[in-house]
Amino acid sequence: MRNLIVLFACSLVMSVAGANEPPAAKQAVAAKPAAAASASASATAAAKEPSIKPVLGKPAVAEKSAKADRAKEDEAELDLSERIAVRLAEMRATQAARAANAAKAQKIAEAKKREAAIIAATPPPPPPPARGTHWTYDGESGPGNWSKINVDWGKCSTGTRQSPIDLRDGIKVDLEQITFDYHQSSFREVDNGHTIMVTVGGGNFITVNNQTYELQQFHFHRPSEEKIAGKGTEMVMHLVHKSAEGKLAVVAVLLERGKAHPLMQTVWNNLPLEKLESVSPTVVLDLMEALPARRDYFTFMGSLSEPPCTEGVLYIVMKQTMQASPAQMALFSRLYPFNARPVQPTNGRVVKESN
Ligand SMILES: [Zn+2]
Repeated sequence: MRNLIVLFACSLVMSVAGANEPPAAKQAVAAKPAAAASASASATAAAKEPSIKPVLGKPAVAEKSAKADRAKEDEAELDLSERIAVRLAEMRATQAARAANAAKAQKIAEAKKREAAIIAATPPPPPPPARGTHWTYDGESGPGNWSKINVDWGKCSTGTRQSPIDLRDGIKVDLEQITFDYHQSSFREVDNGHTIMVTVGGGNFITVNNQTYELQQFHFHRPSEEKIAGKGTEMVMHLVHKSAEGKLAVVAVLLERGKAHPLMQTVWNNLPLEKLESVSPTVVLDLMEALPARRDYFTFMGSLSEPPCTEGVLYIVMKQTMQASPAQMALFSRLYPFNARPVQPTNGRVVKESN
């Protein structure tokens, strides 16, 4: 009877303790007491069995044997109780460890949640400023997007004094004669990926508005960037000058089809074979050949007509066009069929022109 009570208590504890355990563990736990119970039962049975026979023949011996049996039974029960106690202690320890682990996991999950919330609340760092250098005259990197390619090219879209412009409704005045102090010069020539550019040796100056500028380089556009009353020409030559203070003055000479242009021919004769590799020919350029005979002009304030579109550039557009042969035009168009920025808003700029 005591055995039954212990077994009942044991199975009760097992079922309560095992409620939180995974099925496999539960099964193992359930198997153990069952085995223990059956072992105990058979042990008890084995202990009881031999005591039956002596009872029939020798009562004294039978009584003695019964006492021994009870002692054994007590011992077995004690043993079983101890094992249950040990098992219970083990299970409590396991449960405590599991609870501690669950608490730890919850703490980690909460910390991660807090961290995620902080990250979500923090605004993302601003993208690094654009520092592109590649620009073109059409497509994605064309004039409409120049300002997005590089943060330093903002004037290409926000400027109000941009070049080129359509020259119309100019104020006709007696403009002063520009002094051209051009000579024969050595030069370097490069196909810079946007145009053919010729850098000249020092000593070539213009003087206008009491300011002297030194010629730095000249280059070509096709078609002409400047328009006169809406009409452009097939090409234009831009002669870029710089003052001692760093101010820029661009002289534009419009080019139409006609007879050969001697200076252009010298430049074409010395075209570099590779892009971005400059050549230094042994011949010299006669820079006076870059200018038309008549020197009347339009003038306005504009900008570089390519990135970074810097403003504050004095423009002088010669009224008289010059000519270049169809073959000379065709040669440039093979290299640069289109390298002109569209005309920009004048925004009320004053355009003056020679009478
Ligand atoms: Zn230009």
